[in-house]
Amino acid sequence: MLSCKDISHLASDHIDDNLSLLMKIKVKFHLFICHKCRDFIKQFRTTVKVIHQINPLPADQEAIDLQVQNLIKAKQHIKPDDVDRS
Ligand SMILES: [Zn+2]
Repeated sequence: MLSCKDISHLASDHIDDNLSLLMKIKVKFHLFICHKCRDFIKQFRTTVKVIHQINPLPADQEAIDLQVQNLIKAKQHIKPDDVDRS
């Protein structure tokens, strides 16, 4: 099973739909059981959308990469006890 850290590393490919079928299933399963990662992916999608709205010509890849790195760093500070296993 994927860890929360795995999800943070796969978030960009997940949102861009660049994962294999098996990896998509693994990510979706993790998101099904972990509300922290669902919230993370939701925030991640919103951030990417806002960046594209602010700078639609063409996307500032450096700004996106910086935001992605900040989200990944923030996500990695979530303690394992914070993972929702219900
Ligand atoms: Zn998780």
